Amino acid sequence: MPIPLGRSQTIFKSITNVLSSVFSFRGRATVVVSLISVTLVTGIKYAGGLQRFELAGFDWLTRLSSAKTIDSRLVIVGITEADLQRHGWPFSDQTIADVLATIQRHEPKVIGLDIYRNFPHEPGHAALIEQLDQENVITIMNVGSRAQADQVPPPPTVPWERVGFNDLTIDPDGSLRRNLLFVNAAEKPYFSFALRVAKQYVDQPNTVLSTDQQSLILGQGRIPRLRQGDGGYHNIDARGYQTLLRYRSYGAPGRSLTAQQILTGDFEGEWLRDKVVLIGSVARSLRDEFHTPYLGGSGEKFAMPGVVAHGQIVSQLLDVAIGKPAIYAFLPAWGEFIWLLLWVGSVSILAWSIKRPETVLLVGIGLALASFGVSLVSFSYLVWLPTVEPILALLIAMGLVMGQKAIYHNTYDALTTLPGRDLFFSYIQRLFSNPSTEGITVAFLDINRFQVINKSLGHSAGDLVLVTVAERLIAALDDRMKLARVGGDEFALLFPHSRQTQINDCLEKMRASLLEPLILGKHRLSISVSVGLAIAQTQSHQNPEDLLRDAHTAMYQAKAMNEFRHQVFSTDMREHALSRLDLESDLLAAFENQEFFLNYQPIVALQTGRLTGFEALVRWHSKDKGVISPADFIPVVEETGLILPLGEWIFREACCQLSKWQTQFPDLALKISINLSAQQFKQENLFHKIERILNEFQLEGHAIQIEITESTIIENSQAAYELMIQLKQLGIQIAIDDFGTGYSSLSYLHRFPSDALKIDRSFVCRMENSTEDYEIVQTIVSLGQKLNMHLVAEGIDSLKQLDLLREAGCEYAQGYFFSKPLSVADASNLIKTQTQAVFGLYP
Ligand code: C2E
Ligand code: MG
Ligand code: MG
Repeated sequence: MPIPLGRSQTIFKSITNVLSSVFSFRGRATVVVSLISVTLVTGIKYAGGLQRFELAGFDWLTRLSSAKTIDSRLVIVGITEADLQRHGWPFSDQTIADVLATIQRHEPKVIGLDIYRNFPHEPGHAALIEQLDQENVITIMNVGSRAQADQVPPPPTVPWERVGFNDLTIDPDGSLRRNLLFVNAAEKPYFSFALRVAKQYVDQPNTVLSTDQQSLILGQGRIPRLRQGDGGYHNIDARGYQTLLRYRSYGAPGRSLTAQQILTGDFEGEWLRDKVVLIGSVARSLRDEFHTPYLGGSGEKFAMPGVVAHGQIVSQLLDVAIGKPAIYAFLPAWGEFIWLLLWVGSVSILAWSIKRPETVLLVGIGLALASFGVSLVSFSYLVWLPTVEPILALLIAMGLVMGQKAIYHNTYDALTTLPGRDLFFSYIQRLFSNPSTEGITVAFLDINRFQVINKSLGHSAGDLVLVTVAERLIAALDDRMKLARVGGDEFALLFPHSRQTQINDCLEKMRASLLEPLILGKHRLSISVSVGLAIAQTQSHQNPEDLLRDAHTAMYQAKAMNEFRHQVFSTDMREHALSRLDLESDLLAAFENQEFFLNYQPIVALQTGRLTGFEALVRWHSKDKGVISPADFIPVVEETGLILPLGEWIFREACCQLSKWQTQFPDLALKISINLSAQQFKQENLFHKIERILNEFQLEGHAIQIEITESTIIENSQAAYELMIQLKQLGIQIAIDDFGTGYSSLSYLHRFPSDALKIDRSFVCRMENSTEDYEIVQTIVSLGQKLNMHLVAEGIDSLKQLDLLREAGCEYAQGYFFSKPLSVADASNLIKTQTQAVFGLYP
């Protein structure tokens, strides 16, 4: 009885299911693949192999998430080619002073002058000094990296609080993505030009660092300093206070005016009031340009003038200052590891559960796109997740899983997830080569009646049976034993010892767990297995295959004995198996050489003693071995399929003989009984074959009786039923052979149109000494009578039996008491001499 599980048991069961799937091959494989690919990718990242790709990814994300609007707090006054032509370059101090004075008249909040003025450019130097004295003007200098020549000092009259450096940090690929905001040098603090401008804007020129010195303070916001491995960076010079530049757009981030527009008054005053105004060159000929993420490969197109780049930074800083999120965040190293694990884990799990490789590929591409999508979305929320790392990790993981799957399918069984035959052999081999092995025993298990389940309930039911059997067997294993699926319904079990009692106990436990009913739709089945055991012997087992083969042979023996005990292999089993192979090939030859012939055993009416007919019994006269009993070769003939042509030959031969006797002895109305095997019964055209043969010999159907066993009917009940109906229409009678030895229910008896029961010889021969057997015979007789069937006793060999059978009311009998099966000549003689009352027993 399946016991209903309680709630807590159900939870426990699902937890153990999850755990066992984690520890199954697939589970372990997924974990291994995930860790390998993530570690590999992280390794490549730390070796610097991914930075340029991640930066390209950053550029993509930047281009895809550009803002459509400009920053209304910002105005950029660009010095254009036309301005250069009009005023020459460098501009005189007077021209710059005029520009500044005009702008100041409209009360901007801050003016940032991105033009070097470290020495006078007369005329107008005095006027410029006066303009530079204004509190809201920020000027620029260049610290210069290494070469002294790069250095440009600030205008000498401007106090340090209004000087910012122009130095921008360029990535190894020449592109501008970071900005250096602040350097806390020993002698004095250095501010970038943009930071000075932004600080001026929020009236907070002096406060800079947080108390822990890890971030810059700007208005209501904070800017944490960028670190080595942030985002896709791996190896950068992260000194000073840097941050990742958030580009607004590839054009100017604020309103654009030209110097000429300012000087000619071609603008509205409101455009400048309370704004940040940056003044600098946008003329390409001055080559003050930067490569930016907008470059998109075509170098000349989107190079960005310095003043516009400063504008981008100022716009970002102004957002920070009012507390708007404007600074990129990054995952910590462990977070990145988990982020990668998630993608890789999903692709591994999916790749394991999807069968078709092209679907796996599609899923992989889908996940790669999804990871890019997630990066894009999070980028718009200012989180820079690496884009190339997950894609690379996905690719590696997919490759690894495909490789693993190939290995898995060669070594494991896909349905039950058990190891397959080869892996099982390698387990045995390992024990063989281990000097401390205590012994090796292999059990071969074969599910009984599996073909019946598979054929009658369908393959998915069969699959379910296999999976359930595998699960129950696994549950009964201890951890040193190995279980494998080595064939359709065959399992093999390896014990690392040869302790019989332990092995017996284990097999008993397995048998018991298999017997628990299994529910398949509306059917309840209990499963039994036939088990063969082989114990490794150094002389006879050179390799694992031999051991499994012997266990297999022993299993056949167990099955043949139909016992719920296992069989231990012995060498004569192998000899038997070998001689069986010989038999198969001999049979083929026998068929070709026409070594088969028929014997006829008389069937007698018990009341009168008259001969009523014969049962045709096939014989094989082998050149080497003499006459062989059908009990020895019919099963083999059935297995090889040779039964079909042989059966047809038998049928024709028996009919031919009957027709001869009928012409010889027209008064006798002799009948012939012919055995049909289950295989023949399954043949599609059997009916037409029989009909044709009857026509050929001009025989009436009712002169023929067909003998089939109970199992033949049960095995193909629907087809058998239809065939029997057809045969009956020809007048052919049907007898159930060996009745009483099958295990099937009696309900089929009246459903199937059978005419006679042949009481099995085993009851008849024990009847004299066993009242039970006699009672069985009596019961069969009265059953037959109730169902209106004829009764034929098989194997009668004594007078006593004859009397008992007559007493019981049985009508017909055959047996050595009357006659052994006879050759055609002997049978013909018998008919001739016994045309009246037969066998001398009857007066
Ligand atoms: P069966 O159909 O039950 O045939 C009866 C068997 O009992 C025959 O054995 C017969 O010789 C034997 N027998 C009859 N009376 C006695 C007796 O008093 N004592 C003893 N010890 N045996 C007796 P046989 O000819 O060896 O056939 C064995 C089985 O082989 C048959 O059992 C039948 O199942 C199969 N078989 C025989 N001929 C054919 C055939 O032509 N076609 C098919 N498909 N099967 C056949
Ligand atoms: Mg028979
Ligand atoms: Mg029989």
